[in-house]
Amino acid sequence: MLVSGLRASHLHLQMLESPKNFGNAAASPPSDLSWAAAIRRHASRGQFNDALALFLSRPAKPNRHLLPSLLKSCAVTRRLKLGESLHGSSLKLGLFSDLCSANALLNLYAKLHGDGSVGGNGDVSSARKLFDEMPQRDLVTWNTVVAGAASRGLHGEAMAMVRAMVRAGLDPDSFTLSTVLPVFAELAAMAAAAETHGYALKRGLTDDVFVSSGLIDAYAKSSRADLSWFVFSTASAKDLVSWNAIIAGSVQNGQCDDAIRIFRGMLREGGRPGAVTFSSLLPACARATTLRLGRELHGGAVRALAGDNPFVASALVDMYAKSGLIAAARRVFDMMIEPDGVSWTAMIMGYALHGPAGEAVAMFRRMPEPNAVAFVAVLTACSHAGMVEQAKGFYRAMTEEHGISPGLEHCAAMADLLGRSGRLEEAYRFISAMPVAPTASVWAALLGACRVHKDVGLAETAAAEIFKLEPAEAAAKVLMANIYAAAGRWKEAAAVRVEMKRIGVKKEPGCSWVAVKDKVHVFAAEDRSHPRYEEIRRAWGALRERMEREEGYVANTEGVLHDVEEEQKRDMLEGHSERLAIVFAIMSTAPGTVIRVTKNLRVCVDCHAVSKVLAKMVGREIVVRDVNRFHHFSGGHCSCGDFW
Ligand code: ZN
Ligand code: ZN
Repeated sequence: MLVSGLRASHLHLQMLESPKNFGNAAASPPSDLSWAAAIRRHASRGQFNDALALFLSRPAKPNRHLLPSLLKSCAVTRRLKLGESLHGSSLKLGLFSDLCSANALLNLYAKLHGDGSVGGNGDVSSARKLFDEMPQRDLVTWNTVVAGAASRGLHGEAMAMVRAMVRAGLDPDSFTLSTVLPVFAELAAMAAAAETHGYALKRGLTDDVFVSSGLIDAYAKSSRADLSWFVFSTASAKDLVSWNAIIAGSVQNGQCDDAIRIFRGMLREGGRPGAVTFSSLLPACARATTLRLGRELHGGAVRALAGDNPFVASALVDMYAKSGLIAAARRVFDMMIEPDGVSWTAMIMGYALHGPAGEAVAMFRRMPEPNAVAFVAVLTACSHAGMVEQAKGFYRAMTEEHGISPGLEHCAAMADLLGRSGRLEEAYRFISAMPVAPTASVWAALLGACRVHKDVGLAETAAAEIFKLEPAEAAAKVLMANIYAAAGRWKEAAAVRVEMKRIGVKKEPGCSWVAVKDKVHVFAAEDRSHPRYEEIRRAWGALRERMEREEGYVANTEGVLHDVEEEQKRDMLEGHSERLAIVFAIMSTAPGTVIRVTKNLRVCVDCHAVSKVLAKMVGREIVVRDVNRFHHFSGGHCSCGDFW
């Protein structure tokens, strides 16, 4: 019903916005002069609603001195209609020959573009039209249109405006650069970021923290952490914004240890971390080996931030869940007033990976609006617990009730579940008919299942599919050799090993990490380099004897690849990295201390059995995070229910 944007609308202002909608700024009627001064004062103090309410309390027309304040107030409080009315009534008064008013109007349209209720095509480019009609343009004018285009995601237009601005003889300033740098960051436009960097250096603009943090971010998103660091370390002024940019950039590039070091440097230099600092750094602590720092950050966040911050809380839930402290994650989650999607999915995934799977399903059912990621989490939970029928129900509900089309991860979880449950044929049919093209890893899950359920024929089919996609896939070759070996088909096993040698495929060595007294120890399979290696082997020998005597433990050598004597097979198992790490932790930590080990591969069948017996025998809780999931061993059992 409103007349299109740029032309004057003759509706009286009061008809659009009645003063009673605003604050009660207009108590007694002051003089004209002090009335105008009060409006400008409100606007300059950021009391935009009060400024507008005061203006609307009189049937007056805007003037040259008031218009910029009023338009700015409209832009900030997102009152497009009122702004358009002001535009209309001011046009006739010729107020827009004043550059300041024109810029303010341009800002209003650039900010609220597309938000308004004004229909028709006339206002699609109201900002642009206004810009084209302006008799004069200054740096503010250009910056306004560049920022407007950038904030609406019109990256090409923003860049075209910068180029036009340079052609018009104006030099981009720090505001222009800090507007376009986030665009380069989003596009990972390395060359454009470098060009901007060069320009900023020439013009001495790198001292502006918004420019330097924009450069840090743009370089980090282009995977050039080295250049991010260069900008950061040479910047003359550092504030929270630049610290946050370099920390977040390091975490995004997977350089978590650097991020932690930089954070410590920030504290040493007296920097005060904020909510963004904590929520960027917490993902870097989502490993068992950095758990202590994660806890410190939790404490730091509680002290530094007044009240709960939803971003920090959801980063904490995620960090605890990923580090294996599912109960701590749950405590933070339960304290959140309105948990966000990230927190819900982190909790569901946490339960999926740690068990109990029933808890994951219960959480999922409580989640207000499950998204695609939450479905991945609940299907993973079902997969780890062998809940085939439930998973099928969720999969159906996802597509039919929630309109989410299955992605690769949903399909992979379903295929994995069918395979693990021994429904190998059904898994094969599912994978062959998947709505997304199966990747090698989906076939690898089936191959793994074939190994567990000893189906050599289907394993060969799955392996063939894998090698079609990735001819040199090492893990699949190892698995095939394993499958043949387990079936006693030594000739075929040997043939696979010969082929692996010929094409230069090496088995990824097993590697485990354990933190003891704040120092991280690394153990590789068959690696004797640890300074206390002999001691560890002796301790293991003693533990094994007790296990055999008290618990009736017998080594399960089925997983050993080579055709060698039982005795030799047992020796190979005993060099496994997770076993060395656990024994080392048992001998070097106080009784009762929880042992947390991270392993780069899947835990082998025998190490799994050993961990269960050891946990019971020495009365410890042992948490092993392997490549697929967490195993919480205690009292002779594992949280995975031997299903992994
Ligand atoms: Zn093992
Ligand atoms: Zn387990």
